Amino acid sequence: MTFRTLDDAGSLAGKTALVRVDFNVPMEGGKVTDDTRLRVALPTIEKLRQAGAKVALLAHFDRPKGQVVPSMSLKPLVQPLSELLGAPVRFAEDCVGGPAHAAIADLDAGGVVLLENVRFHAAEEANDAEFATSLAELADLYVNDAFSAAHRAHASTEGVAHHLPAYAGESMRRELEALDAALGNPKTPVIGIVGGAKVSTKLDLLKNLVGKLDRLAIGGGMANTFLFAQGVDIGGSLAERDMADTAREIMNEAKVKGCELLLPVDFVVATEVKPGAQSRPVTAGDSLSADDKILDAGPATVARLVEAITASKTLIWNGPLGVFEVQPFDAATVAVAQHAAALAKAGTLIAVGGGGDTVSALNHAGVVDDMTFVSTAGGAFLEWMEGKALPGVEALRA
Ligand code: ADP
Ligand code: MG
Repeated sequence: MTFRTLDDAGSLAGKTALVRVDFNVPMEGGKVTDDTRLRVALPTIEKLRQAGAKVALLAHFDRPKGQVVPSMSLKPLVQPLSELLGAPVRFAEDCVGGPAHAAIADLDAGGVVLLENVRFHAAEEANDAEFATSLAELADLYVNDAFSAAHRAHASTEGVAHHLPAYAGESMRRELEALDAALGNPKTPVIGIVGGAKVSTKLDLLKNLVGKLDRLAIGGGMANTFLFAQGVDIGGSLAERDMADTAREIMNEAKVKGCELLLPVDFVVATEVKPGAQSRPVTAGDSLSADDKILDAGPATVARLVEAITASKTLIWNGPLGVFEVQPFDAATVAVAQHAAALAKAGTLIAVGGGGDTVSALNHAGVVDDMTFVSTAGGAFLEWMEGKALPGVEALRA
């Protein structure tokens, strides 16, 4: 996968870079409660500043739906960003037109301005060509550092890239390189783990993965649907019983494509989902009662997964193996995550994970720093796992 990066941009001294960042940070009462996304943007901002460029930051916040909604202003981010950068950050009351041009004109080389919420303009999400041109008029080059917004073809993520030289920022580059190492051009054998609640939300993902992976382990509530389709008793477990045909199709497709499917061979079962609930181990095929729920993978399944991961060079993971939010049903997810992270730390496995609840689960297991890469991109990460082209990434191709 080749895409243009800031190393391809030549001399940046005196130029203005329009930088699309993801500043959709959690806020409470006008205060940023988690500045992770601000920190993620720092390497690109620093690199541009050091090269003597002016930096105009472009971002969306929340869903103002094309209206100016004062509570969704990006202004509260100016101070925390300025503190992280150790440099002043100006603010422009609009991301296009007079206020934006004036704020940029006022910057010295290496200066930074945060432009107001781009979604205050309905033309942003409509990917309006005139609006994209207005954005492009602000700068000499465009830098996209927001992988998490790259699955949307909006003016600030896609349209503007057609009007300026366009480059991947440092975080975008890091994410694309990690994803390429996990699924684009991975070291084989490659194993995938797909878990979570439902088959129906991950059909495209499963179909793409069985065509690409050497092994695919299915876990979580989703595995129940596959087991049910094979005639295994799943009692009163969460499952999409009407998706049994689809599950059989996927199993067939895996066989045709030479992807070995690993379904759970044992489970942890309980009658209620609450902390410390009485639970018992069950072997797949044993009969369950109507109020039994499969809430986690069992020890034999974990052992098999650990062995399969050890025999692999690359792991791509989305979806927990059990109801990890409630102990003890986090056990399988935690054990497998810690094994994968240890191999990644030792350098024998490339281990990449992502997805909303998956990030929480990997955090809960304490492994995020040791994994090769954990994507917090949510929707963009899932679409990439589904094999879809992301408009914001396509626009950066060399
Ligand atoms: P992600 O957000 O990472 O893509 P999902 O949203 O697909 O992941 O799935 C996460 C959810 O799946 C978690 O809330 C977890 O409790 C649930 N889950 C996992 N295993 C089971 C199970 N056996 N029964 C019910 N829910 C499960
Ligand atoms: Mg989720």
